[in-house]
Amino acid sequence: MRLDRSQYSRIVVLTGAGISAASGLRTYRGPDGVWEEHEVEKYGHADALVNRPEDTWRLFGGMRQPVLNVKPNAAHLALAQWEASLAPHQEFLIVTQNVDALHQRAGSKNVVELHGNIMFTKCSNPTCSLQAYRDEHAHADKVPTCPICGSVLRPDVVLFGEEIPALPSWTVKRALRDCDLFLAIGTSGLVTPAANYVRGAEYAGARTILVNLEPMARPNPAFQEQYLGPAEKVLPELLGTDEA
Ligand SMILES: [Zn+2]
Repeated sequence: MRLDRSQYSRIVVLTGAGISAASGLRTYRGPDGVWEEHEVEKYGHADALVNRPEDTWRLFGGMRQPVLNVKPNAAHLALAQWEASLAPHQEFLIVTQNVDALHQRAGSKNVVELHGNIMFTKCSNPTCSLQAYRDEHAHADKVPTCPICGSVLRPDVVLFGEEIPALPSWTVKRALRDCDLFLAIGTSGLVTPAANYVRGAEYAGARTILVNLEPMARPNPAFQEQYLGPAEKVLPELLGTDEA
């Protein structure tokens, strides 16, 4: 099974934790993760940032070194190669739930990060003029504060209890409106945002495909096709980048 890329002019690809698994990046949730689910929801919650920012940093700061230590895998590379091979009139957007920036490191150009980027730090004061900046420090010992306004600094990721910021949200909605090919990779086809996005793509008349390790627990009829297996094996074949 190979996708004929020339048939599509507006392609949207949604990626989740499953695409980074082969890079050796343990998801921070779930049984193999560094943290228990309930700990992530507690320390990763917006309330923790207000009351115990040291917990926020312990959780997310501690993920920085593991992210620096891994490399993009064959799935990331296949998507980057595919994007580079498209004609100028073809639009292509990767929408990722991951905060590891592995798509950009693989060479992908058009990437929307729904949940932010773990390697960036920003001010917790939304009216502060400090720009988010790249920061490799874990800040495990001391919570950093803003040089401009003195507020607590925070990792530039969407915390539990926070909404996806307006700009990425709007960019995705706009791309889905006239999308003709929608791929969801390494993400459950049943939970938001994948479930909502695939419905949007379906309304637009797109071909909709799920690539995941496991089949959906219950079928989501908005997905017309499903390819099962590790993304780093399935994608190069599906996209035809293994031919090059
Ligand atoms: Zn500030």
